Amino acid sequence: MTIVRDGVDKWACFHCPGGCGETIKLSLSKNRRPRWTAMSDWLRRPTISPSVRQTNECRCHFWIRQGRIDWCRDSPRRTCHATVRRSLKGS
Ligand SMILES: [Zn+2]
Repeated sequence: MTIVRDGVDKWACFHCPGGCGETIKLSLSKNRRPRWTAMSDWLRRPTISPSVRQTNECRCHFWIRQGRIDWCRDSPRRTCHATVRRSLKGS
């Protein structure tokens, strides 16, 4: 996961854990809707809220909690247990 900053956190970018290959871009900007919050612990494991739902053919729906993918019951793909680490881009 890459957190793109421009003074403040702007975007959280990461590859869809469902395997469709799409890059998910979540807005962290306070002035945009919808928006997400990204926090990370001392191991740089991100926690994202609220949950992420893909509207493409992949339709995956999951939470990221402490770097772990937590699949929702209505998600068609729940096999990936990838973990995500946070890195920063920008200033
Ligand atoms: Zn996907």
